[in-house]
Amino acid sequence: MVPRGNFLFDRRAQMLKPKQLSSIQQASIRKLVHYAYRNTAFYRKRFDDAGVRPESVKSLDDMSKIPFTVKTDLRDNYPLGILAVPLNRLYCLHASSGTTGKPIVVAYTRGDLERWSRLMGRTFDVAGVRKGDIVQNMYGYGLFTGGLGFHYGARAVGAIVVPTSVGNTKRQLMLMKDLQTTVAACTPSYMVYLCEASRAEGYEPRKDFVLRIGLFGAEPWSEEARKRIEDSFGLRAHDCYGMSELCGPGVAIECEQREGLHVWGDEFLVETIDPDTGEVLEPGREGELVFTMLSREAMPLLRYRSRDLSRVFEDECACGRYHSRIARIKGRSDDMLIVGGVNVFPSQVEHVLMNVPGLGDQYQIIVSHEELDRLTVKVETAKHRLQDPELTKTVQEDLYATLGIRANVEFLEEGTLPRHEGKARRVVDLRPKE
Ligand SMILES: [Zn+2]
Repeated sequence: MVPRGNFLFDRRAQMLKPKQLSSIQQASIRKLVHYAYRNTAFYRKRFDDAGVRPESVKSLDDMSKIPFTVKTDLRDNYPLGILAVPLNRLYCLHASSGTTGKPIVVAYTRGDLERWSRLMGRTFDVAGVRKGDIVQNMYGYGLFTGGLGFHYGARAVGAIVVPTSVGNTKRQLMLMKDLQTTVAACTPSYMVYLCEASRAEGYEPRKDFVLRIGLFGAEPWSEEARKRIEDSFGLRAHDCYGMSELCGPGVAIECEQREGLHVWGDEFLVETIDPDTGEVLEPGREGELVFTMLSREAMPLLRYRSRDLSRVFEDECACGRYHSRIARIKGRSDDMLIVGGVNVFPSQVEHVLMNVPGLGDQYQIIVSHEELDRLTVKVETAKHRLQDPELTKTVQEDLYATLGIRANVEFLEEGTLPRHEGKARRVVDLRPKE
């Protein structure tokens, strides 16, 4: 057994009071604006074009003067156009997992890397991982920030890290049992797949494995998927949030209350905006999350539009931490499908499917166009229910109630749909591109 104790990694930072947090943010924002203006041609031009002098950003109240940075800015400045330090101060480079075109390169100084490790250490600590825990890290090692990010975090809290990386499911399960892995770190869709794969391989997940904590992130997932994972493995699942552009994972993590994810306010300033108008929204209202990194050296990032939709809560959390929280990510605005004029998030479809008894874990969303847009949801189920009209009706009605549009529902035999080892690719859009 791992001693649980009340050990808190980076305790002082985790427990900062509201006044302390806001004074760190006030001091950092002034420094950051000058730093970015002085050291990068990109921000100098961006500020000059907007007619904003760095001196005019005096406090957090002036945040809205700062122009947004968007993903295409990073692409257009490929590979290292926004670098604020000389090359010889860099310690490592990562790149986003883009499937088309040039990726986004992210650079770290030694200080950036240390800060990232510390944030990941907090991630593990908040989820309850302790020295002696065995962490099976099934995030991809490589350019993707997931593998090394979780690796650094496990090292920071003194846990034992097993760097299995993605794939080779049989070996993952064998090691999980033989090494008595206590912490699983991977994408939630892969963990859902492991539920099924472990049974197919003859394991009884609750008997053969001793997992107690799961750190799941890198894609939006639903409460229903969480319940399935927890029921199958008997572990406690925590949602983790981050993205390569903002150092990687480690931006936000669910505490034991699991009522939103704490964003580390001493390193990140989070705002919510209306994605159409750019107007800043009051806390609690749903919108696009915008992040400012307060102390990154290699590549400063000011008011970065994440395209992730969520809400920010600033009230006190029962855990005693004052770092503000974001609600579970509803979806990335890039993942949102517009089907016949209606907004559809894959996470909404997952929410419906996982609530209908008798359906498998794997599904696919297909959008096609035959005179009108058509939405088809393919989902696996047991052989004897493939032609079950009652089941079809239930799924169709529930989808309609949630999405507001009709969907065709097709049942497939278990094991038919593709399985994913990293981030799941569940949407197939067959509509002609403009
Ligand atoms: Zn909390």
